Amino acid sequence: MNVLKIVVIGSGVVGASIARVLSRYQGLEVIVLEREPDVGWGVSKANTSIIHPGHEEDPDQHPLRAKLCVRGNMLWRQWVRELSILSTWPGELMLYTNTAEEKEARKYLEYAKRNSVPGVRILDKNEVQAVEPAVNPGVEGALYAPTAGLISPFEAVPAIIENAVDNGVKLLVETEVRNIRISSGRVLGVETNKGFIQADIVVNAAGLHADTISHMAGVEPEFKITPRKGEYILFDETVESKPRIILHTTPTPKTKGVYAITTVHGNLMIGPTAEDMPYEFKEDTSTSREGIEYIYREAARILKNPPPKNRVIRVFAGVRPEPPGGHWLIKAYSDPWGFVNVAGIRSPGLTAAPAIAEYVLDLIRETYDVKLVEKQKWNPYRRDITRIKNKRLDEIDELVKSNPNYGEIICYCKMVSKAEVLEAIERIKKIGARVTVDGVKFRVYTGFGKCQGSFCRWRVANIISMELGIPLQEVVVKHSPYGIGDVKKLWREKVSVQ
Ligand SMILES: Cc1cc2nc3c(=O)[nH]c(=O)nc-3n(C[C@H](O)[C@H](O)[C@H](O)COP(=O)(O)OP(=O)(O)OC[C@H]3O[C@@H](n4cnc5c(N)ncnc54)[C@H](O)[C@@H]3O)c2cc1C
Repeated sequence: MNVLKIVVIGSGVVGASIARVLSRYQGLEVIVLEREPDVGWGVSKANTSIIHPGHEEDPDQHPLRAKLCVRGNMLWRQWVRELSILSTWPGELMLYTNTAEEKEARKYLEYAKRNSVPGVRILDKNEVQAVEPAVNPGVEGALYAPTAGLISPFEAVPAIIENAVDNGVKLLVETEVRNIRISSGRVLGVETNKGFIQADIVVNAAGLHADTISHMAGVEPEFKITPRKGEYILFDETVESKPRIILHTTPTPKTKGVYAITTVHGNLMIGPTAEDMPYEFKEDTSTSREGIEYIYREAARILKNPPPKNRVIRVFAGVRPEPPGGHWLIKAYSDPWGFVNVAGIRSPGLTAAPAIAEYVLDLIRETYDVKLVEKQKWNPYRRDITRIKNKRLDEIDELVKSNPNYGEIICYCKMVSKAEVLEAIERIKKIGARVTVDGVKFRVYTGFGKCQGSFCRWRVANIISMELGIPLQEVVVKHSPYGIGDVKKLWREKVSVQ
């Protein structure tokens, strides 16, 4: 059997999902290229983390988004089980406070029917209070969509990649694609900062930069991705009145509204804004006073108790890759043969990712006449890191007996033990990513608590330093090293001279 070499550019939730789906078949050599030191650090890292039901997608304007969102919602239920990804399925309420908003909400009831989204219905004021007491009593009613869920996006991508790598996919990090080599109307491979990589098929899943990659392949010269920023406020887990159900205001032409959610880790989170930025601001994740005040005002409108400002632990922003007209560009080209765009994947891209992956598989099969034969031994499962949080004391006791590192707490805010940090390091090494303080954080939540890492960051860095056998100052936090050098070196040298 001839081996077909497929290069996937980008290890966000879309590229990772495509790699996982491709890993199921014989005769495919799949390589994921990621310019960052680790996976899932692009758009997929900072978003609202909702697995949308699909009733907010206009079936006339965006039939592909509607179809893949509904299918993605279904597939995630299976994927979270297979990959041990933390998830909750509380459903969502689109809340209205006046007749104009009610009219808007009822529009989505119609979309729900046309997109075959199950269980969507209008709840009156009393029903809303009965299902969710955290809602502001001034709210007049809501559109209820029971199939909405939440996942942890920054854990989901490593989990998908771990499983893909387990099934034969190769990941190359810190590998930036700089050109697509084409000859006689056919893709030959990609040129990267680390040299040329041959490929029969190149899948462009480069998130905010997918337009640049597309232009490298000489297709869709007019296609441009606009950065659209979304700011958030994250509150401590101890906030008393957190909504059980996902709450949001009625959508605007730009967004699905401002949300108030309890994340899978138990934090109240509100946001996002939706601000179109100049083209060159794709990496700008700064926050603004206006943005933060806006989401606070909007959230206070739908919540019974305004979120306590003294429990804010972080404000942050994500950047949406907004394509022209909001249309996802998912297409396999015959000229150049072998180039596939999966570009402009704005919301609901997190939800749809598994379904987008299936869709891309079909496109590859049909456009390039690939005969796909399933592997006899494809492993759909990935085990989660063993965590002590939420375990009973006797269970922790057993763990400590088998491995004393479970008894050494590294992060007190999120109750993370040394054994978990060590397991995260092993997992990062296993997929071939660079071990960083942030990489550990996104896997075991060290630094996600109210101290935001002031207590545990150096301890994690210290463990990495020992595990990799490198000086502490050389441990990488995200992109740059932990320190500028050994500050005691001069002192030691002075001592040895004396
Ligand atoms: C504020 C906000 C809220 C959102 N909320 C939701 C939500 O609640 N639910 C939902 O379903 N969706 C939501 N989304 C949308 C969702 O996050 C995106 O659709 C999805 O994450 C896009 O994934 P991706 O893999 O296409 O992009 P990314 O995650 O950005 O992945 C692309 C990867 O390509 C890499 N890359 C780029 N250029 C190169 C290169 N030249 N060489 C190598 N690698 C490269 C990047 O480093 C990156 O890792 C939201 C988005 C935002 C910003």
